[in-house]
Amino acid sequence: MTVYVDYQDLFPDSEETRHVHVLAGNSHLPSDNYVLNEHYCGDISCDCCRVRLEVIAASSRKLAAVVYYAWEEGEEADLDGQNPYLEPMAAQGPHAEAVRGLVEQVINDDSVYRERLKRHYGEVKQFLADHPELAVHEDAARARQAIASWSRMLGEGLGPPTRSPRERNQAKRRRKRKEQRRSRKRNR
Ligand SMILES: [Zn+2]
Repeated sequence: MTVYVDYQDLFPDSEETRHVHVLAGNSHLPSDNYVLNEHYCGDISCDCCRVRLEVIAASSRKLAAVVYYAWEEGEEADLDGQNPYLEPMAAQGPHAEAVRGLVEQVINDDSVYRERLKRHYGEVKQFLADHPELAVHEDAARARQAIASWSRMLGEGLGPPTRSPRERNQAKRRRKRKEQRRSRKRNR
């Protein structure tokens, strides 16, 4: 299973998350502010050249759709030849196909956004290459992802909030201190 890294998790100060405002009557979608949260494959040996967009409807904070966009056309595109395409394994929202269409429109119309996605992909791969210790957290990331998708299936929205690298490091230090205290006790 591929572990996907939340771009905002790694770069919380980045203000480059794309929002799309859909006005009433303009589309098959309910009017809302749709937030395109970017996730990239966390395997540094993999060069899939794609982004996983988890599209959130801002009013309800519910997941509207999970859409992939691959900029290296070919094997990664969906069987129907669609690109962007819906994640077949994900629990999708009721308007997922219309959301996919919205994402397609944004990607086709906005070359700056397309380039930004590629740049962010490169930034994530570089960050992971520079921080091999983050690989330790892979199991935690998997567990978090599983919990998030369960709670989505249960209709509870987004699941637990993801922690920033700083918070993760703090937790790690706390665990380490606890561990040291315990081993001191044992050695007494
Ligand atoms: Zn990959």
